[in-house]
Amino acid sequence: MLMFNLILFGPPGSGKGTQSEKLVEKYGLVHLSTGNLLREEIANRTPLGLEAKNFIDKGQLVPDEVVIGMIGSCLDHHKKASGFLFDGFPRTTAQAQALDKLLALKKTEIALVLFLEVSEEELVNRLLNRGKTSGRSDDTNETVIHQRFTVYKNETAPIADHYKKLKKFQAIKGEGSVEEIFASLCQAIDKRMKALAS
Ligand code: AMP
Repeated sequence: MLMFNLILFGPPGSGKGTQSEKLVEKYGLVHLSTGNLLREEIANRTPLGLEAKNFIDKGQLVPDEVVIGMIGSCLDHHKKASGFLFDGFPRTTAQAQALDKLLALKKTEIALVLFLEVSEEELVNRLLNRGKTSGRSDDTNETVIHQRFTVYKNETAPIADHYKKLKKFQAIKGEGSVEEIFASLCQAIDKRMKALAS
């Protein structure tokens, strides 16, 4: 069976986590969020979690080899998956290249990259609001939030070009109600699935 692998792309606070939960339910994909996986490691006080916390608390990226290793073992654990939804990964060129290689080993590839477009002002408001209830230390400090945006612009945003060249990249308006945004995402996915099936 053909796998459908999706990347939900966008800056911190663009709604990747919220929309991912709805999308994996609708399409039966396996949700791979490196942020969630790292927070689980921190909660379990593993050596990996303790190392990652130093970076996360400063708004910096966790080293490539750590997150690539996590994704590699998750892909191995889900041999029968009908597809994966990558949320918060890849975030650097090295991660994007590693993902291509890992998927090629499974004789599959990325089908579509959906980019949630949200203004920076709205992003800061969303993150500060989320910080009030999420308990996420990286969402409460405005300096850390701005550092995460800088990292996003310098290291993550440029990898969009890789997927644009492959004609796999599509921007979606990420402002509006959760349901409106979800409907736009579903429309793009359904169209791509149809094109791949024909
Ligand atoms: P997120 O929940 O996706 O916003 O991730 C929270 C934090 O975890 C980020 O600010 C990074 O410090 C770290 N992180 C998550 N995913 C990655 C990744 N793919 N590469 C490097 N660091 C990551």
